[in-house]
Amino acid sequence: MDASERAAPYFAAAARGVLALQRCAACGTAVFPLRERCAQCGSKELRWSESRGAGRVFAHGRLERSSLPEHAGKLPLTLLLVDLDDGPRIPARLAAGAPAVRAGDRVELGFESAGDGTPLPVFRAVPA
Ligand SMILES: [Zn+2]
Repeated sequence: MDASERAAPYFAAAARGVLALQRCAACGTAVFPLRERCAQCGSKELRWSESRGAGRVFAHGRLERSSLPEHAGKLPLTLLLVDLDDGPRIPARLAAGAPAVRAGDRVELGFESAGDGTPLPVFRAVPA
């Protein structure tokens, strides 16, 4: 199985607005990004599960400059590390046009399209 085949369930879920995570069948650890083996115990028995997409901001930072083509026309961007309620800490972006967030804020997942159509996980604050 090549990398794109392995990632197919992730992209199929993203097209529905759902974040798919791998979870280790041996030890239960959520695995993200995609791996062939569990980072915790080394098992290759990874199963797909769907995150509810709710979490809390662990950290945020502002990206002012970038030479990556995918960032062209989108700066400044707010980059986030989000602790999912039902998964690991994942890197993501603040949704376009969303109000600023602070560490500890509750956030919910969405997807935005990268320039090439790749779905990117983004978060916005949950209204209090
Ligand atoms: Zn494991």
